Formats: sequence, C-alpha cells, structure tokens
Amino acid sequence: MSRFFLRSLVAAASAAGTLATLSTPALACDHPTPVIVDTARGHGNVVSFTFDDGPNPPDTYHLLAVLAKYHVKAVFCLVGDQVKAHPEVVRAIVRGGHTLCNHSMHHDNMSTWTPEQISADLTATSALIHQAAPHVKIEYFRAPYGAWGQSPQVAADLGLQPLGWRFDIEDWVPPGTDVLVQRLRDRITPGAVVLMHDGGGDRSQTVEAVDQFIPEIRAEGWRLTLPQRRG
Ligand SMILES: [Zn+2]
Repeated sequence: MSRFFLRSLVAAASAAGTLATLSTPALACDHPTPVIVDTARGHGNVVSFTFDDGPNPPDTYHLLAVLAKYHVKAVFCLVGDQVKAHPEVVRAIVRGGHTLCNHSMHHDNMSTWTPEQISADLTATSALIHQAAPHVKIEYFRAPYGAWGQSPQVAADLGLQPLGWRFDIEDWVPPGTDVLVQRLRDRITPGAVVLMHDGGGDRSQTVEAVDQFIPEIRAEGWRLTLPQRRG
C-alpha cells in the first residue's frame, strides 16, 4: 500500500467519522464532543429510553424491575440531591447494567452560568455519584430543562457527552397511563431518544406506560438501544 493511498484512506475514514480504528491513540475520536446526542444507536426502528430526575424510590425500583423483565437497558439522568438521599438506588441502577447521566446537583437552570460555575456543579455531581457507586462510568450529561447555555463544551471537557432528546411524553403532570402510552405511540420515530421521568414526583404511571409499551413496539419490530455515544 503506497503512502499516498494510506493517507487518502485515513482522510476518507476521518471524514466518515471512522478514524478510531486506523488512528494512533492521540488521534482517537472516542472523546465526548459538545454536539448534543439525540439519536439512538443502530439503524431502522430503534429507540432509546432515558429517565430523568431520580433516583426516586419506589418508582425507580419498579422501573428497574420492568426494564429487567424485558432485558432493556436505559439511561438514568441523576440529580445530585436525589443521589445524596438515595445512594442505594444508584447502586441498583448500576447493578441493572444501565448507563448513567449527570443531570446536575440541584436541577438548576444553567443557561446563564459561566463555564466555571457549570464545571463546579457537574464535578460535584459526578463526585457524589462516585461516592454512591465508586468507579462507575458516567457517560452523559443532560442540562436541566434543556437549558444548555455553555454546558455542552464544559461537559465534553469533563468527559461527559451531552445528551438531548427527540421527544418527551410530558409525564411531569401524570395524565393517566393510557394517555402516556398513546403519546409514546403517536410520537415515536426511528432513532429517537425519548425523555421520561422516574423522579420529580409520583411516576407510577410512567412505569406502567413503559411496561405496556415495550412489548407493544417489540411486536412491531422495534429495538430498544442506548443513545449514540458521541454527537
Ligand atoms: Zn430534569
């Protein structure tokens, strides 16, 4: 293989975003980017479930049981205050093989914060999660209210991939399980990252909706995957 051809190959692979397998470690691209991920891994009818504002017993435990029943892995976006109150639930989430996301310490709107303020909050939140579950990988960051401000770059610099969503089911005021299931049916699109809540209130309807919806979409050929790793 000529050096020219090799260079062309590397350039083409780089353009396609597949440089990791060809590059030296210094060029490896498995670092978080500030580009907000809102797409599920895989092709076709794939969808990712993400759950915010917990850990929140007993709903988080019930949700973990539902996800385990169907062998589904999800992302849990944890709030520091909740982690402090319920560290044992964080460990249960990790034992279930799910992926963790830093969702800030107090669920503040960070849209006007400086990078230094954001960095301090995210670092403290991750430290709290690591107190509960030492050495666990925290893959993502999600800004409360989607008020991103300068947080995507700060998160990426801290090793956290910003994680957005394509749609939510507005489950913060529980409208009834049937309504939540219907919203999931109406709003689902191939590749969507879906935002739901296991915390912030009574989320028993969300848990029931997930329990009904997973077998329904599986029967239609959908697959449940995690969000893409990088934006
Ligand atoms: Zn939230």
